[in-house]
Amino acid sequence: MNDYQYDLFVIGGGSGGVRAARISAGHGARVAICEEYRYGGTCVIRGCVPKKLMVYASHYAEDFKDAVSYGWETGTPRFDWSTLIRNKDAEIDRLNGIYIKLLNDAGVAVLDGRARLIDKHTVNVAGKRYTTDKILIATGGAPFMPDIPGIEHAITSNEVFHLDKQPGDILILGGGYIAVEFAGIFNGLGTDTVLLYRGPKILRGFDEDVRSHLEAEIQKKGIKVQHNHVVTNIKLLESGRRKVTMSDDSEITVDQVMFAVGRIPNTSDLGLEGIDIALGEREEIRVDDYSRTNVDNIFAVGDVTDRIALTPVATMEGHCFADTIFGGISRSPDHDDVPSAVFSQPSVATVGLTEATARELFGNVDIYLSEFRTLKHTLTPSTERTLMKLIVDKDTDKVVGAHMVGSEAAEIIQGIAIAVKAGATKADFDATVGIHPSTAEEFVTLRTPV
Ligand code: FAD
Repeated sequence: MNDYQYDLFVIGGGSGGVRAARISAGHGARVAICEEYRYGGTCVIRGCVPKKLMVYASHYAEDFKDAVSYGWETGTPRFDWSTLIRNKDAEIDRLNGIYIKLLNDAGVAVLDGRARLIDKHTVNVAGKRYTTDKILIATGGAPFMPDIPGIEHAITSNEVFHLDKQPGDILILGGGYIAVEFAGIFNGLGTDTVLLYRGPKILRGFDEDVRSHLEAEIQKKGIKVQHNHVVTNIKLLESGRRKVTMSDDSEITVDQVMFAVGRIPNTSDLGLEGIDIALGEREEIRVDDYSRTNVDNIFAVGDVTDRIALTPVATMEGHCFADTIFGGISRSPDHDDVPSAVFSQPSVATVGLTEATARELFGNVDIYLSEFRTLKHTLTPSTERTLMKLIVDKDTDKVVGAHMVGSEAAEIIQGIAIAVKAGATKADFDATVGIHPSTAEEFVTLRTPV
């Protein structure tokens, strides 16, 4: 036993911090955790969970239309924004409570307030000092906002969950998954939606076929996608609307402007300068494979380390940290073949390599690709098309990438990800019997490379 108040002080009550605190306490460590906003962090409070609820809400618009072709008479559906926000908030409150209870039940001291490091063993929270043997920084990230005139009249993903009123029209800036998802949410809910991206094609970093396919699909659904421009000025009009000027001098007036142009690690105003923690180019905390910083008793996990900014990755990193440091089980997080999804409409999910990366790494690859209308939509007026793609290393026959754009892509790719992670070959996929009739069976019936 050391002389400090705690064995571990965790800064940040999000996905990574909460998991690390609970598991460390379970291993017998004396743990405190501190959160400046709400326990649950970005994912639960203003990320994955409320967003997915809003995706569900917006998808009903299509479902009502499709239902008519199946004989349902639905009348004219009407959407009420305040009901959605109220119900969503109640669920987030419930989850927030569960997170606090889980920490309390694990015996973790739960503190509220912003933490700042005084020295490598002392943390200040709301004017009180706590001493600790080890510190885990799990402070996550925050939306990046460019420095342009009128930026204070725009919102980010932090505010979008709390708008009093549904905007009649919205301009969403960005081409990453958060921008694309919110474009789908607002478009589905009936808001006139423009997605403006500074590059030539949305979803940079995803497989090229996925990018092209999704961009075409979301435009078919009514999202207006514009490329190669940035916003240079935002002016708040007396009417409350925003007049936005773009880099080509064109203008657009909308109810709301949302920036989703990237996130930056939360490392400022934490007292890190005083203890000489090494930061990277994006101000992220630099860590090794075991989430160790350059300061021997300080560790970092999750978005603040800018590895893969996803909840399951942050929890994996937090869990590995706790097992390694307090559980006597040395474990480093495995960042290979992490599946991910974009809850756009239609959704995207992916695991493994893109075609371009696979070609770079292996040279010799086979591509299996299928693009089709699902059985469901043979009866509906929807023109939605599904894309499925497998990338196979020809020398080993291993499936090194699987990508999908279509309904329930995340649910399907989660299963495929197990196979890819386990090193399944194309022959294993071929030997698997399909579930018929399903969309997923296409992944085991792709016979001819393109
Ligand atoms: P966070 O969950 O961000 O937690 C960090 C916590 O630290 C915050 O609660 C913050 O208030 C607190 N904090 C910061 N500084 C201090 C301080 N000095 N003192 C005390 N507390 C502090 N991931 C997915 O896997 N799937 C998704 O569908 C998905 N959707 C997303 C949608 C949106 C709109 C956003 C923004 C993110 C989404 N993510 C998604 C990403 C996911 O939310 C993050 O990867 C995850 O929350 C990272 O966990 P973390 O523990 O690193 O940080």
